[in-house]
Amino acid sequence: MQHIKNWAKSANNQDIALYCSEGAFLEQPILLIGGTHGDEPEGVILAEALLAHLKAHPESASVPWILIPCINPDGYVKNERVNGHGVDLNRNYPASNWSNEHSKPRYFPGPHPASEPEIQALVKLIIDVKPKLIIHFHSIEDPCIVCTGKPGLKAAEILSKVSGYPVKEDIGYPTPGSLSEYGWHDLKIPVICIEEREKIDLNSIWPRFKKALLEILA
Ligand SMILES: [Zn+2]
Repeated sequence: MQHIKNWAKSANNQDIALYCSEGAFLEQPILLIGGTHGDEPEGVILAEALLAHLKAHPESASVPWILIPCINPDGYVKNERVNGHGVDLNRNYPASNWSNEHSKPRYFPGPHPASEPEIQALVKLIIDVKPKLIIHFHSIEDPCIVCTGKPGLKAAEILSKVSGYPVKEDIGYPTPGSLSEYGWHDLKIPVICIEEREKIDLNSIWPRFKKALLEILA
């Protein structure tokens, strides 16, 4: 396993760490991202639990993988959705449908597409390594597995079957400039968003998804 402690910097100049299997940059890995929204600790807990498992049992993954446990450390330390510049990182991707319209400050998409250092680093990574699948970890009132792009459906169904959460094609409202829009609609990389139930017992999250995530990485 490789660990790049300061792979990128946040808006407030915090280090963003990246972990990966040996040689993952050369082999169309699965890209896993936690902590996009700083007020959704469920996603960071799940990413960190997966990382701890992969550290202890590196042989459990035969698929190349890259894991960023917390892409938004600025929001995470303050329990806020947005990054240090007040931007919703999941509206800041340079998707062709990026829009500066937003209903509430918590959805502020930034002054222009990919204005944020966290998204600039992720976009460069995605272009460089061409992941075959992207999975990011969030939480919401009504939990579900959102799958954008048919090639991701098999993995989404594994996650759904093990967790009991339904697979959905979209979250039910427009998300211009999101990772799903950029990854699938622009780059044809399937994107799965795991939406855990918000405010759930944090100790219950890893047991719920362990089997499915390890099956996807097997
Ligand atoms: Zn979220």
